Amino acid sequence: MGRKYGRAMDRATAEAAVRFGFAHSTRTVDLSFFGGEPLLEKDLLLHTADYALAWQRDQAPGKPLRLFVTTNGLGLDEAFLQEARRRGLIVSLSLDGHGRGHDLTRTLPEGGGSFAALEPKFPAILAVFPWIEVLVTVTPRNLPFLGEGVEKLYACGFRNFIVGPNYEEAWEEPALQRLEEEYRRLASFYEARFRDGHYIYLSLFDTKIAAHTRTRGEICSCCDKNDGEIAVAPSGNIYPCLRFVKEDADHALVLGTLATGLDRKKRAKLMLEAGREWPECLECAFRGRCFHYCTAVNFKVTGRFNQPPAVLCRQEQAAIRCADEVAARLHAAGNPLFHERFYRK
Ligand code: SF4
Ligand code: SF4
Repeated sequence: MGRKYGRAMDRATAEAAVRFGFAHSTRTVDLSFFGGEPLLEKDLLLHTADYALAWQRDQAPGKPLRLFVTTNGLGLDEAFLQEARRRGLIVSLSLDGHGRGHDLTRTLPEGGGSFAALEPKFPAILAVFPWIEVLVTVTPRNLPFLGEGVEKLYACGFRNFIVGPNYEEAWEEPALQRLEEEYRRLASFYEARFRDGHYIYLSLFDTKIAAHTRTRGEICSCCDKNDGEIAVAPSGNIYPCLRFVKEDADHALVLGTLATGLDRKKRAKLMLEAGREWPECLECAFRGRCFHYCTAVNFKVTGRFNQPPAVLCRQEQAAIRCADEVAARLHAAGNPLFHERFYRK
């Protein structure tokens, strides 16, 4: 849904996608609305959420359903927030920083950054969703504002941050070095919150520490090498995940349609290729905690499902190093919050 694809999904396709999701899911059905900007189609979004809830109630009782939407926030208002809460819709907000850092990458159609339009909405958003996840996308342009941005957003009341680079940008060596510096700043801030006894979740470090302390550490919740997720374009074409859809133009990546079903052979071929680990990763000490298996990122940047881009390799190593340094200090200090989060059975 939304402008990125030039057209909105129609109701019949959205409903068919819901039925398809229920029919093919063996576990929880996670229904995510994405765009473009999904809130450009609020009525369709709420209708589809209602349709999914009714389908679960009448056709699939007992099968868990979760509803997600990621928005740039411009369409968030009190009415939508209440509608979302009523349906149990989990809302995430894309904010690439606070002020300038955000404005460098998130602009309005009429020009200029969008932060000034968003900031007044923060109290209403946090009143309804106090634990809302903030998605921070880092590029070489907004990178110098990363640490400062997260700190200021924390001061605004946000507590959960999903931070990750846009791997498709041109990351030169100075930017990669600066990235690690900004991660160190974030790591100090993260550590200080644990020491103060105040809650913070920062995906960069939380996932890496959990991947070390938990027997089944969570390094990514979104896919199991593309066996756990599908994405449906407004045309009804099915893709391995939402990151592949783009303009719905690359039909080599289409795994079927809602009308014809999944092409299982094509899907198996993709999974086989994705599962063939890149040789340089096999011997790497970071391997079990690294995001190198994301077929979408790999394919977009290197053209291969299993070859991680150089920038991903560098940023993952930087994140893991920072996470390990913080974890070692908090562990040695016997920090109760740290032990509760990462070692509680
Ligand atoms: S991408 Fe780099 S850090 Fe990750 S497993 Fe491969 S070699 Fe190691
Ligand atoms: S391909 Fe990457 S983004 Fe897509 S579901 Fe898998 S891990 Fe997530």
